[in-house]
Amino acid sequence: MKKRVLITGGAGFIGSHLADILNKDKKISKIVLIDNFTDGELRNLKLVKKSKKVSIIKKDLLSIKKNEIFFKKMDCVVHLAALSDLVPSIDKPVKFIENNFNGTLKLLDAMNFNNIKKIIFAASSTCYGKKNNTPTKEDEIIDLCHPYAFSKKISEDLILHWAKLFRINFISLRFFNVFGTRSRTNNDYGAVFGVFMKQKLMNKPYTVVGNGKQKRDFLYVSDACNAIKKSIFTSKKNLILNVGSGKPKSILYLTKLLKGKKIFIPKRPGEPTITHADIRKIKKELNWKPKVSFEEGVSLLLKDIDYWKNTILWDKNKIKKATKNWFKYLK
Ligand code: UDP
Repeated sequence: MKKRVLITGGAGFIGSHLADILNKDKKISKIVLIDNFTDGELRNLKLVKKSKKVSIIKKDLLSIKKNEIFFKKMDCVVHLAALSDLVPSIDKPVKFIENNFNGTLKLLDAMNFNNIKKIIFAASSTCYGKKNNTPTKEDEIIDLCHPYAFSKKISEDLILHWAKLFRINFISLRFFNVFGTRSRTNNDYGAVFGVFMKQKLMNKPYTVVGNGKQKRDFLYVSDACNAIKKSIFTSKKNLILNVGSGKPKSILYLTKLLKGKKIFIPKRPGEPTITHADIRKIKKELNWKPKVSFEEGVSLLLKDIDYWKNTILWDKNKIKKATKNWFKYLK
């Protein structure tokens, strides 16, 4: 049966890639993209904005009403909208927690009202914090090191509660470091790829945090979107799944692939030295596996480097200033 899907955060990094992929899928008959366009951008939607099956709605989740017309007859919600930078979440904990939790709550309430029975949630590997065993399994101890991690985990818990109470099916995808074009860099301290791409464009050195030997489980965005797509179509329900490559790479290796100079900036205290997803569960449950290697992903990104032209370049001092509170609170 064809599916009608509503995506929150639909103009953002993952949401817009997902819209591109679902738009081409004949088994998807309707796509509603909701975004408040603070981080999301219209240019991300250039491939889908003219599609007959796509509707783009500028709305903040905090101000949606449950009887909004766009909720009608949806089969499934993919909930990606969130404030998503770790460092600013320390400066503005109330804003992050309120926004991410209340946005989820409003959405769940609207789902109930409109009898929408399935939600796929972009949870975060940050819930495993610093003390985790690697490769990290889904039943690892939770260790919430900053308000962003907290806001995502309580949103996941809320979804689980709602699912139990109102018989809504959920799949919570705990994403590791998703990368690809359109990832943001406009905030005080963006995700590493956005920052490095902009630095490359401007011929500036890469700001390597710490000694650069820390490793991250980077996953290319199309693989992340395929995990969401499989979640939409599966009949399995109520799953928490890690979504990563299972192959961590160091920041120094990344700078080697990108080529160019680097400078070293202070280590961020709340950060793990390695993230490494155990992805056996998602492979088994959804028959999913990552297809794009790290090296391929980086070369895809370099082909599209112009995307970062209009974004802000944060200099070393601004990054230092933005990280100051980390040292204050997260010793
Ligand atoms: N990082 C870096 N330079 C930067 C930004 C980030 O070396 O300008 C490193 C950071 O220390 C971390 C990795 O890149 O090890 C990924 O950081 P990001 O903020 O993208 O995601 P995180 O893993 O912290 O959630």
